[in-house]
Amino acid sequence: MSLNQSGWRPEAPAGADRGQGAQTATGNRALMLEERLIFEIGTSESCGVDLPAPDPDAPPARLGGLERAAPAGLPGLSEPEAVRHYTRLSRQNYAIDLGLFPLGSCTMKHNPRLNEKVARMPGFADVHPLAPQGAIQGALAVIHELGEWLKALTGMPGVAMSPKAGAHGELCGLLAIRAALDARDDPREVVLVPTSAHGTNPATAAFCGYRVEEIGATADGRVDMAALEARIGPDVAALMITNPNTCGLFERDIHRMAEAIHAAGGFLYCDGANFNAIVGRVRPGDLGVDAMHINLHKTFSTPHGGGGPGSGPVVFSEALAPFAPLPAVRLAGGRFHLVEEETQVDHGHGQSFGRLAAFHGQMGMFTRALAYILSHGADGLAQVSGDAVLNANYILRCLEGELDAPFAASGPCMHEALFSDKGFAEGFSTLDLAKALIDEGFHPMTMYFPLVVHGAMLVEPTETESKAALDQFITALASLARRAREGDPALKSAPHFAPRRRLDETLAARKPRLVWSEE
Ligand SMILES: *Cc1c(COP(=O)(O)O)cnc(C)c1O
Repeated sequence: MSLNQSGWRPEAPAGADRGQGAQTATGNRALMLEERLIFEIGTSESCGVDLPAPDPDAPPARLGGLERAAPAGLPGLSEPEAVRHYTRLSRQNYAIDLGLFPLGSCTMKHNPRLNEKVARMPGFADVHPLAPQGAIQGALAVIHELGEWLKALTGMPGVAMSPKAGAHGELCGLLAIRAALDARDDPREVVLVPTSAHGTNPATAAFCGYRVEEIGATADGRVDMAALEARIGPDVAALMITNPNTCGLFERDIHRMAEAIHAAGGFLYCDGANFNAIVGRVRPGDLGVDAMHINLHKTFSTPHGGGGPGSGPVVFSEALAPFAPLPAVRLAGGRFHLVEEETQVDHGHGQSFGRLAAFHGQMGMFTRALAYILSHGADGLAQVSGDAVLNANYILRCLEGELDAPFAASGPCMHEALFSDKGFAEGFSTLDLAKALIDEGFHPMTMYFPLVVHGAMLVEPTETESKAALDQFITALASLARRAREGDPALKSAPHFAPRRRLDETLAARKPRLVWSEE
């Protein structure tokens, strides 16, 4: 179908004013092609497949009067039109396969193709959660072996594989803590969360019915130990800590924190999203942690950010392991079993808080994560964290003269470099710099998080970037930092070269238009 047939005239197509006012008749810009919504270009007359006409002698539908009386109004495209539509849309997006993706706290590392090959093997790709256990021994073996690796890497004796992502893992951990407290009739009401925590931490605690209290940070970006020790008491159920923390620093007082919360009868939850900085080097179990989620889609390279679902297994200390959710995979008599019943007291699951999700977890992520772990081995994983930390420190030291780095004096960072907007010209913000980074061909870094730093820019390069890629990114960021300091007005209207110019994010959040209609 041509553009005219669809009634679309390219009057002022978005993006046509890029560059020096040059217009094109189509709105296309060389290889960057405009694309309308599928409802605007598709018609009910077109179809990409040939279907036989309905059999006139077919028995009437058995839908109890619910059969469709009018066409569904779905847009139809021929096969080449459909392929072009989605290919064009995909080219307007950014991906880890295109370039460096510096989103802090997200660990946007390369997704090895080996993982993909393993996940697509028949038997893994086709496995069904309701298949009889005798038919899925291989899949159960994968879940079990991955769990054993996570226990070994963290030094923790229990593991739950069913949480679907990090936030779901936090819920799993806090439900286990609640079950442990209930088991001893201990009605604690408070969960302590540092100011630098990810928003999911207080949200999870509140969702579980706890009152959240914040613990402040010191000037060097770590938890204020004096404030923490003053607050810990018999009403505190748990402390939720992130280590390394979201300022990119290791919480050196973690042993003291664990001792203080344990002495008061509470539990230590660790947000493990930053495990990529310490994997293979530090075992959270040795630090006194009672529960920690592991984002397989961060540390263990499974796709995320539009590329795949998450997976957030949780590891547990001796004290919490009996309260972990079911089902659990156990090896007994040379066979793998899914323990589904709370009555399996002999397996240490007598006090499980119950079922967290309908099934056993994200199989496609388990296969990928285990392929990644086995291809690296324990030594390789230690090199992963070492290289991730080295790359972040390279960025921090190359840019600390161009951008304010509030904790650069606190010593080396972990796997993230944190900068602030201090020194920008009046009226220039982190948002302006991030939008201009799109013009330079990079996905923006994490912005305005953690909240403890004004106009925060959290950069996580991961270990999978080469020095050449880091140098190009540093060159771009140094140039933008200079323009922000000098107040270059072009920065305020960036991006200039993206498929869309700067969007009104407030309007998009307050009045989202989620339904397309012709009116
Ligand atoms: C990513 C992240 C989470 C949440 O994990 P999801 O898998 O996105 O649910 C929690 N805390 C921190 C610090 C994170 O970076």
